[in-house]
Amino acid sequence: MSANLFDLVRSRLLDPGKTFIETHDGRVVAYGGMVAASGRIANALVSLGVKTGDRVAVQVEKSPEMILLYLACLRVGAVFLPLNTAYTLAELEYFIGDAEPALVVATPTAAEGMRGIAGPKGARVETLGTAGDGSLMAIAAMMPDDFATVARGDDDLAAILYTSGTTGRSKGAMLSHRNLASNALTLADCWRFTGDDVLLHALPIYHTHGLFVATNIVLLTGGTMLFLPKLDPDTVFRLLPRATSMMGVPTFYVRLLQDDRLTRAATAHMRLFVSGSAPLLAETHRSWSERTGHAILERYGMTETNMNTSNPYEGDRVPGTVGFPLPGVDLRIADPETGASLAQGDIGMIEVRGPNVFRGYWRMPEKTAAEFRPDGFFITGDLGLVDARGYVHIVGRGKDLVISGGFNVYPKEIESEIDAIPGVVESAVIGVPHPDFGEGVTAVVAVPKGSTLGERDVLARLEGRLAKFKQPKRVIFVEDLPRNAMGKVQKAALRETYKALYAR
Ligand code: AMP
Repeated sequence: MSANLFDLVRSRLLDPGKTFIETHDGRVVAYGGMVAASGRIANALVSLGVKTGDRVAVQVEKSPEMILLYLACLRVGAVFLPLNTAYTLAELEYFIGDAEPALVVATPTAAEGMRGIAGPKGARVETLGTAGDGSLMAIAAMMPDDFATVARGDDDLAAILYTSGTTGRSKGAMLSHRNLASNALTLADCWRFTGDDVLLHALPIYHTHGLFVATNIVLLTGGTMLFLPKLDPDTVFRLLPRATSMMGVPTFYVRLLQDDRLTRAATAHMRLFVSGSAPLLAETHRSWSERTGHAILERYGMTETNMNTSNPYEGDRVPGTVGFPLPGVDLRIADPETGASLAQGDIGMIEVRGPNVFRGYWRMPEKTAAEFRPDGFFITGDLGLVDARGYVHIVGRGKDLVISGGFNVYPKEIESEIDAIPGVVESAVIGVPHPDFGEGVTAVVAVPKGSTLGERDVLARLEGRLAKFKQPKRVIFVEDLPRNAMGKVQKAALRETYKALYAR
């Protein structure tokens, strides 16, 4: 049998009349309409010269049609390559040059600039707007619905997603049909998704969270997605009564907690709130439970591996942890240098192996080889530990580890202490070049405007709670920490800003 993810979707489709996606402004795509439209777009892609194995790069605003284009690519056996809408033309030049797509789909307003980049590299450019408009849809409108989905093997590529590239160049993570299918089936099962689910979807769809975790789960279980262009509290509270579940990044939960409309009554009908892509503060988890009666279910994954761990659907969802390895996923904590397994409770590199783990980085065999162990485990770059009950805790990215005076300092431990100080919104601990210590532990602390909290207050609170070598050499106050669209604190940007702090 073909391993094409679209064949799996189709084999599980029960009710063609059922709504697959409804947008915030009332546009509806039913399951039957999804099959027909993805067939028309697949025919359009072929007519534009896209062949099985070709890359289709897509930088458009979120819309149901972008999902239909993703499905059409699956059907053609082409490789879907979504790009963050924030990328500039200069950045796109690298992606287009690296991926060599046969076709680039851009927003109508960006088409001209995109042609300037893609044309010389031999790629065609078509457009797609947010209301089903654009040249690609005009071509598709003239095409028949029927399209014979191309058979694919387990390891054939379904998508390439570029990593956010906070250090060095972005790398294209190659994801196979099996990677996506296995993870979506596992998650749908673990999180008990059914055709009765209505998922409030406010995530971007150029990223693994909104595209694969959310969309593939719904596609394979026949539920409905309510599509919001972004997290807008007014729209969230308008649509919430119709939803059963929501997936978000931690900043969504933080923002909704600031809204008086978030109450136990407003969320009483909800079945599940999922968080991931960045650490959810234990404090946010607790506040959410107190306000709504729902324990947010936190999970952990990354572009390269899909999802690796999840707190349990039934059982304790422990704040500050990312739960247990998913069924079928092997996870170990290893010595970052040697790769030897460490004892339970020790902090080390999180390594994973399973059908979820990607096929490597596009055209970077050396980088790929360097990030896998000989026995097939992928080195995630995240440091963590497994506690006595088997819950995985993440203590930070390996590259965010601070080494001060020869001692390893795990930022999360210090951040948790600082976050607990009254008046602190949140904090980020970074290592900054220091003439005596190699790196100086530095705390960047977000406080509300007009706060009177001072450096001495913070240091006094940490005195006696943290070993001397872990205590920040400096505490800097800001109103907001810099974040990317997925809510991740940009520590590289902070290190850059404060790099001369200890210069003599
Ligand atoms: P991305 O590839 O953009 O999805 O980023 C993946 C990275 O996000 C992981 O390697 C982690 O560092 C981080 N991440 C994802 N989920 C979590 C989580 N629940 N808690 C802490 N960090 C997370």
